[in-house]
Amino acid sequence: DIPVITIDGPTASGKGTLADEVAKALGFGVLDSGALYRVTGLAARRAGLDLDDGTAVAAIVPTLDLRFADGHVFLGQEDVTARLRAEATGLLASQVAVHPAVRQALHQWQLDFRRLPGLVADGRDMGTALFPGAPLKVFLTASAATRAERRYKQLISKGIPANMESLREDLEARDERDKNRASSPLTPAQDAQLLDNSALSIEASVDQVLNWWQKRRPF
Ligand code: C5P
Repeated sequence: DIPVITIDGPTASGKGTLADEVAKALGFGVLDSGALYRVTGLAARRAGLDLDDGTAVAAIVPTLDLRFADGHVFLGQEDVTARLRAEATGLLASQVAVHPAVRQALHQWQLDFRRLPGLVADGRDMGTALFPGAPLKVFLTASAATRAERRYKQLISKGIPANMESLREDLEARDERDKNRASSPLTPAQDAQLLDNSALSIEASVDQVLNWWQKRRPF
């Protein structure tokens, strides 16, 4: 069995950074499942599809020519890294993510990210739907204010204009949709370790997860 650490939680809780750092420390690979939903939303929008039509959106998933290389994401020949990270693309992602057909179309693709020596999987349903047998599941949270502030600083540091209030509203709207959808709603797995990182440094969060990993139940 290939060991998997799942990290689920709401938007901008710091899952991506934590997943990358834990993976680096253990030499594991990373699955950024949000990127798959983001690219699906982006491709669906570009194809002019009705985002409420789950069957039509799911049908484009097998046609996506996606590559992850050196922290960049390529769709065909195009570097879509910056486009994928945009808040507008996050909203597209959460719109297509409500459809069971879309989640089903992305299921096997996500499982295929497993490679030795292990995988850190970041998303909303990694511990509940994708890797229910994972020996360590983390559910990461932070207050909406903290998350909005982090996203704000991230954008400003890249020279992208941002507004804290509207960021917070966008985050909360996306959280609501993710929590209330019928298919794989955002909720901690029963055996998840809860980690509120509102007042924790990245290093402290990484140490906590590595500590849990050392004490994990055998697999
Ligand atoms: O994590 P990220 O912000 O990139 O995710 C974008 C959107 O994709 C989320 O708001 C959620 O609606 C959807 N998503 C999901 N399941 C996952 C990962 C992301 O539904 N495992």
